[in-house]
Amino acid sequence: MDAADSVKNLRQTVADLHRELTRYGLVIWTAGNVSARVPGEDLMVIKPSGVSYDDLSADTMVVTDLHGNLVEGDLAPSSDTAAHAYVYRHMPEVGGVVHTHSPYATAWAARGEPIPCVLTMIADEFGGEVPVGPFALIGDDSIGRGIVDTLRDSRSPAVLMRSHGPFTVGRDARAAVKAAVMVEDVARTVHYAHQLGTPDAIDAAAVDRLYERYQNVYGQ
Ligand SMILES: [Zn+2]
Repeated sequence: MDAADSVKNLRQTVADLHRELTRYGLVIWTAGNVSARVPGEDLMVIKPSGVSYDDLSADTMVVTDLHGNLVEGDLAPSSDTAAHAYVYRHMPEVGGVVHTHSPYATAWAARGEPIPCVLTMIADEFGGEVPVGPFALIGDDSIGRGIVDTLRDSRSPAVLMRSHGPFTVGRDARAAVKAAVMVEDVARTVHYAHQLGTPDAIDAAAVDRLYERYQNVYGQ
């Protein structure tokens, strides 16, 4: 498949994946965004800035280079494009990035508190606690650098950027969307658990076993 076909397919894939953000209640208004790296190219497909979720389509998606410069599209790219681009430049294994302000995960980010690994599902999906990244302002590479620096020391595909919200990564855009859905789900469940006491952390050896099994054996 040549680059033009890859871009065409990814425009549709990325547009469709934005529907998962609304389906799972992860976004309001025009907040949130999904991007995908174009395999073998220094390009990514990302949501345009400020467009209603109902109006997103393959045609409205935007293509930029990995410095966030517009390559193809009629609309301006998402205001988070620089953060996505930084992640792709520094994490070659990442093929998809998602950002939301999903309410429970963002509540943990507001407190600057990692989500502790107190459920088998957290061990499965995140390989430990969901870490907190630094406070960073939009406008330069600060957010991207904070994401990369935090995820480099973790098995988690999700980082809670302090006082902001979750960013997730995956081998492709669908995996990054799955991580965004899962981080909101565990953020909510552990929040509930905290209302009635302090949940027990799973010991590190069990976390390793769970993570290993789920990542390498589980599924079809
Ligand atoms: Zn944001």
